[in-house]
Amino acid sequence: MYEPYPTPDLARDHKKFRYSSLWTFAKQDLRLLVFLLVIGGFIGLGVGYFWVGLCIAFSIFFAFQLRSLYLVNEWISNRPYEAPPNLDGIWGALLFNVYRAQRQERVVQAEMVGLIDRAQSSLVALAEAVVLTDELHQIEWWNPAAEKLLGIQPLDRGRNLLTIIRQPSFIDYFNHIDKSPDGIKIKSSVFEEHYVQIKLTRFGSESRLLLAYDVTRIHNLEQMRKDFVDNISHELRTPLTVLSGYIETFTDQEDLNPRWKRAFDQMHSQTRRMNALVNDLLLLSRLEGNKQIAKNQIIEMPSLMNQLFDDAQAYNVDYGHTLNLDIDSHCDLIGSDTELASAFSNLITNAIKYTPKGGTVTIGWHDDGEHGYFTVQDTGIGIDPKHLPRLTERFYRVDSARSRQTGGTGLGLAIVKHVLMQHAAYLEVESKENQGSTFKVVFPKERLYNPDESLNSFEL
Ligand code: ADP
Repeated sequence: MYEPYPTPDLARDHKKFRYSSLWTFAKQDLRLLVFLLVIGGFIGLGVGYFWVGLCIAFSIFFAFQLRSLYLVNEWISNRPYEAPPNLDGIWGALLFNVYRAQRQERVVQAEMVGLIDRAQSSLVALAEAVVLTDELHQIEWWNPAAEKLLGIQPLDRGRNLLTIIRQPSFIDYFNHIDKSPDGIKIKSSVFEEHYVQIKLTRFGSESRLLLAYDVTRIHNLEQMRKDFVDNISHELRTPLTVLSGYIETFTDQEDLNPRWKRAFDQMHSQTRRMNALVNDLLLLSRLEGNKQIAKNQIIEMPSLMNQLFDDAQAYNVDYGHTLNLDIDSHCDLIGSDTELASAFSNLITNAIKYTPKGGTVTIGWHDDGEHGYFTVQDTGIGIDPKHLPRLTERFYRVDSARSRQTGGTGLGLAIVKHVLMQHAAYLEVESKENQGSTFKVVFPKERLYNPDESLNSFEL
């Protein structure tokens, strides 16, 4: 067992002093004083110098006290970790209490040191990088994995972490931890083509704990999946265009044998579906890659809403719903017009598709000063609440047969989710089976642009 200091027989000593009050120890001193005075008095009387005898006795007592004081001082100054000198009386009690308090403190200290040692050695053994920074973002401590993964050197102690990991995405995350609860993935600055997932936790006032691990394998697998879908969609595009071109030509022929007409009609609708699927897959992969998307255009909402409403009316011809347009905001949106228009249009066509004939669909745009709300409300078939959490997954359908029947690809809401993510917006869905659904897109204030406020500026 770890035993850094000598152990006196505390139990015994404790017993000795346990029930003793200060008076008990003072009594020992008094007894000594009385004893010396009696002896001194008698001897003084015997030789005819009573008072001198008493003075000498008192001086001897005083010398005893001085010796005790000297021993106490010597122990405290030179040997505080050793057992205290064995003294009687008040000095002994004082020494014992000081020593006992000191020992208890040392035991607690040793326990704490042991605990810290264990915590530290487990952090050192971790394959994940761990870095601690103080309130000024200066590096206080890190483990060997942090040296390997993040390139932190012994000389970096006390340096600002942001001068070592300098990627803009990391700096942004460091300053706004709450925006990315799952952390962020960055390219490793130590190994080429390596990726590191970083998660920060704030503690104390402004100190931070950084955890990082290598996610290169997962990143590569994810990339392979994306590339595969991307490539296959591109490869399918050309043959599909050729096929649908021919099929359309044949379908349009007036002298087409009626026996073939049905087959060609079906081929036509299936190639259209495949085309839609390929286009959605390509759009999704472009959105995931975050490529070439301008997200800082000012989108005039009244004109976009009217455009969406006209398109909805054209699509609604076969359904005969009542369509309403409800605009109650002067704000425009800042973002990518094509992407947002496509996301909004997905929600509107879904509302029309999943509402039995003769229903009502209302398209709305509102704001409350803090958020902007694009809403699509329908009186359609609704969605069982158990499906809501998975609704924006790729190819997730509540009712596959119905979705295929309506020409759906199963990718519409996944696209909506990605477009919204890129605009720091999110989707809220409220639905009751057989009563209808409301899909609400919530935009943050930074995405709203009020043309009436001339000083309105944006930097995104
Ligand atoms: P799809 O192409 O199949 O419509 P989406 O991703 O657009 O794919 O939608 C996913 C599923 O969510 C749909 O299959 C449908 O079951 C359900 N859904 C979407 N919008 C509505 C709505 N307005 N009313 C009822 N169900 C809906």
